[in-house]
Amino acid sequence: MISVFGSANMDLVAYTPVVPKRGETVTGRAFAAVPGGKGANQAVAAARAGADVAFMGAVGDDAFGPVVRETLGSAGVDVSRLRVVPGSSGVAHIVVDDDGGNSIIVVPGANGAVTAPSAEDLAVIARSDALLLQLELPMEAVVSAARQARVPVVLTPAPARELPRELLDAVDLIVPNEHEAEALTGLADPREALEALLELVPEAVITLGAEGALYGSRAGGRLRVPAVPVRAVDTTAAGDTFVGALAVARAEGRPQEEALRFAAAAAALSVQREGASTSMPGRAEIDAALR
Ligand code: ADP
Repeated sequence: MISVFGSANMDLVAYTPVVPKRGETVTGRAFAAVPGGKGANQAVAAARAGADVAFMGAVGDDAFGPVVRETLGSAGVDVSRLRVVPGSSGVAHIVVDDDGGNSIIVVPGANGAVTAPSAEDLAVIARSDALLLQLELPMEAVVSAARQARVPVVLTPAPARELPRELLDAVDLIVPNEHEAEALTGLADPREALEALLELVPEAVITLGAEGALYGSRAGGRLRVPAVPVRAVDTTAAGDTFVGALAVARAEGRPQEEALRFAAAAAALSVQREGASTSMPGRAEIDAALR
């Protein structure tokens, strides 16, 4: 089983030919409201990839909370530990222009009310093969969960921010993309950044978009895993799909390189379809892509 302690949002996406300036109103082309947030996305990715998944986090007591719960639940994620707190759910207010450029306002809402895992959350985490964390909850909550987990902790350091020592000391595997890796290490060369990350944590994967991923462990292994060549239409949540699938393959005890290839196959399938959680592949599809 995989536990995810993280963010759940409602993504409100307006597609528009013109991005409005201050004081201006424009007419958009289309609108979509879809659950997102890195925590929820990783939970859905792991569930689709074939694991039992428990999600821990919070939604508000607004109209979005039940939609988020329902979407996670129908992907097979156990949402019995998803709390409801007074006020609004986390919302990502996204404007996408005709060139595919976007501007985003994230309002943390209920995610900002999560301070630490409860005793019941910790009991679920203790029964898991891994705990997946990201940085869309308050830092104190992330640190608390990492330090109290008695299972391998996988951290996606996004959105990039400075990581306290006490968090790094509790992380087993860190999975930044190349921008986050540079923000963390100050090194633009991913191979150099990987070595710097391994000074901080025992294992690291740097994802490189269409260039694949680099893996390293303090025990000595270094691997470069190519991306699967595909025509990408929407790379939203490629990283979350990669992490969710990687956690599943590792929980199944697969050798490192095979686990990374499984993750790359899942992510490559997701970028060929629009959307975040809606684009994540199921287990049969991932297995077929690897044959
Ligand atoms: P993030 O979404 O966090 O920015 P990346 O862009 O590095 O992360 O993508 C994560 C993984 O998704 C990559 O390591 C790769 O396996 C896969 N991926 C991303 N973009 C593509 C692409 N254009 N073609 C194939 N695979 C991709």
